[in-house]
Amino acid sequence: MKNVIKTIMLVLTTLCTVLALASCKEEHQHSYTYESDATKHRQVCTECGEETRWDAHVWGEWKVTKEATLDEKGLQEHTCTVCGYKGTEEIPMLTPTFGATTDFTAFYAYVPADFETVNIYYWGENLESSYAVAWPGVEMTLVNESEHLYGYTLPAGVDNVIINDGSSQTVDVAYSPERNALRFDVLNSDNKYEVTYTSYQAKADDPELAKPEASDPIEMITLYVVDTNGWDVLNIHYWGSKLGDSTWPGVASTKVGVVEVNGESCNIYSVEVPEDATTYIANNKVDGVESGEQSQNITAVADANCVVILADLTASYGNYKDGVFTEVEVDLGLPEFYIVGKFGTVNWTFEEAYKLAIDEETMTATITVTLAVGDVFKIAQAGWSGEVSSDELGAAFSVAADGNITVVTAGKYQIVVSNLDSTPSLTITAVTE
Ligand SMILES: [Zn+2]
Ligand SMILES: [Zn+2]
Repeated sequence: MKNVIKTIMLVLTTLCTVLALASCKEEHQHSYTYESDATKHRQVCTECGEETRWDAHVWGEWKVTKEATLDEKGLQEHTCTVCGYKGTEEIPMLTPTFGATTDFTAFYAYVPADFETVNIYYWGENLESSYAVAWPGVEMTLVNESEHLYGYTLPAGVDNVIINDGSSQTVDVAYSPERNALRFDVLNSDNKYEVTYTSYQAKADDPELAKPEASDPIEMITLYVVDTNGWDVLNIHYWGSKLGDSTWPGVASTKVGVVEVNGESCNIYSVEVPEDATTYIANNKVDGVESGEQSQNITAVADANCVVILADLTASYGNYKDGVFTEVEVDLGLPEFYIVGKFGTVNWTFEEAYKLAIDEETMTATITVTLAVGDVFKIAQAGWSGEVSSDELGAAFSVAADGNITVVTAGKYQIVVSNLDSTPSLTITAVTE
């Protein structure tokens, strides 16, 4: 025991001696002050410049110094508990609460200067179908030319809008009862405008805003679908209706019985679709799963309440009544194609003058047209029931991801859609005079 104490004493004595020698070498007591940047601090001696290592700040709680509002960003700060450095951060503007219009409601948008025709497309879960609009929506009223401010009176039940000029558009904008105006912001990666919410106080001499008139409500009708492929499920995706498109893969159908088609027993399904839908796709896809089959585009036909999905995924037509299926011959003719887009006086409308002329001998549709740099177009069937695929069109055109073709070199061009009776394909050739 004595030996152990002796040893400890010796160690302590040695340690004291070493420390004493070390402090003797110091010429002064460091006098540190903190040096800080946005993320870290260190101490620097004011006399000799000796620096300690950088350490991250040790932040205290955030304190709000300015509350964010619906119109202005807020500010908050936090303080390093070691060096006292204050860091600040913006608080995003408050997002207004979303909801639906409850009555006729004036709504405004400040649009880009190059918007000529300004449309508002709107929809809502509780919007009466008599007020539903088809894309691109309805024209807004110019309220203030220098501010590019447009307005429209929305009907009750609108909870989403898209402002567009037929080609450029905003993202889907959720309606907020707290804000009656939108301001266009940056274009996002989908080439759609983001928006911010703002307010507009109507002035006494403002023009009266356009307002929708109720049309006949759009009814839902029953479509029967015969499946000759033995699918386990059958969905119908539809589009072209003022009530909007169904969400892919469409509406689930209900099996209503078994019918004989071409000597085979096939399941027949029913599904509710809007009466003004122009086109259907039948499929057996399960939501979120890529596998499965889908039919070609099926044109809605007024005098057939039943479509038969054939083995090659095309469709024939029939009527189904009181458990009896009857085949119906439908001559859809060849598909009619138009140039639609923004060129000349055309602004995304189907004009007879821009309908391609069909030649049944060669199964082609052709038009010759003069196009200017910056014109945007696509070749489409009326009602957007289908678009032809754009093959390599050469350097005179650029094709966007959405299929829109932009003219890079002005000139006179012959536009030809071939294979009208199967899978149409597009070629464009310069016409030299
Ligand atoms: Zn020092
Ligand atoms: Zn610090």
